[in-house]
Amino acid sequence: MAKYVIGFDLGGTKMAAALMTPKFEVKARSRQRSKAHESGDDIYGRIVNTIRDAVGEAKIDPKKELVGIGVGSPGPLDPETGTIIDCANLNWSDFPLGKKLEKEFGCPVVVDNDVNVGTYGEFHFGAGRGSKHLVGIFPGTGIGGGLVLDGRIYHGASGSAGEVGHMTLDPDGPNCGCGKPGCYEAYAGRNVIAAAAATVALRGQAPTLLKNKGSDVRTIRSGALKRSVAGGDKEVETVVRRAAYQIGILGANLINVLSPDTLVLGGGLVEAMPDLFRDEVKRALKTHAMPFLRKFCTLKIAELGDDATIMGAAKLVVEKIEA
Ligand SMILES: [Zn+2]
Repeated sequence: MAKYVIGFDLGGTKMAAALMTPKFEVKARSRQRSKAHESGDDIYGRIVNTIRDAVGEAKIDPKKELVGIGVGSPGPLDPETGTIIDCANLNWSDFPLGKKLEKEFGCPVVVDNDVNVGTYGEFHFGAGRGSKHLVGIFPGTGIGGGLVLDGRIYHGASGSAGEVGHMTLDPDGPNCGCGKPGCYEAYAGRNVIAAAAATVALRGQAPTLLKNKGSDVRTIRSGALKRSVAGGDKEVETVVRRAAYQIGILGANLINVLSPDTLVLGGGLVEAMPDLFRDEVKRALKTHAMPFLRKFCTLKIAELGDDATIMGAAKLVVEKIEA
């Protein structure tokens, strides 16, 4: 009898499951878009249905053949128990996601922070193959981070280590969404970049962006920024390059503290403009990372896209079963 695991990505805008063999060959997939104003219980119900859809698609018997479920979820959460401590987007507080899924499907479940899990996916299957100490930075709406040290996800005392976007760039800087002043995210998060690009467009200095998207911040996502830069909007390019350089300073700080062998950049903005990000981050590392530590670290662009979290989650649960 074959055995299968589920890798699950509980994202902000969608949820996705993949059923795979313990050798990580994907047999079936399912996904659903998130709905606005859903209750926590409704979201949980859709998680169960999404898993059942993938199981049904592969026509396996979940009672006998499904042996584990790995989940990457927004946090903060307790990776030991799989309890989501507080997540406003999911309407969950002290929600025992791991325990509930274990009961529902009668198999072991691992729950960890989605960015950690994505970083772990890149570490094993993507840009970080062969690495031992890896730092992942994922600029998107926020700036997510994941630390894999000595081959293990580093959780710290709280279980929630790796909030690299909330390191401080300037104590006198603008307030971040987290309430602190001057976080990297308050400078180089996509919403901030979009707002700066919109201002440039309003000034009449970004004709491509204005023609495609206007100056509404909400519609200026990674793809729109990419088209604007490619279309010759120099002022927008300056905005994006400045943010990419700031992300490079963040990477340099992490190299100086942790001395990773691999620094992986991923997320929507990097996927849209990988060359621009690689150039600016390299430039920042040259200036801000200690030369001796920098020498040991290779800069890589993430390879797995949306699959990083699914693959990392599956890897985590396979490890739990094997242990
Ligand atoms: Zn912050």
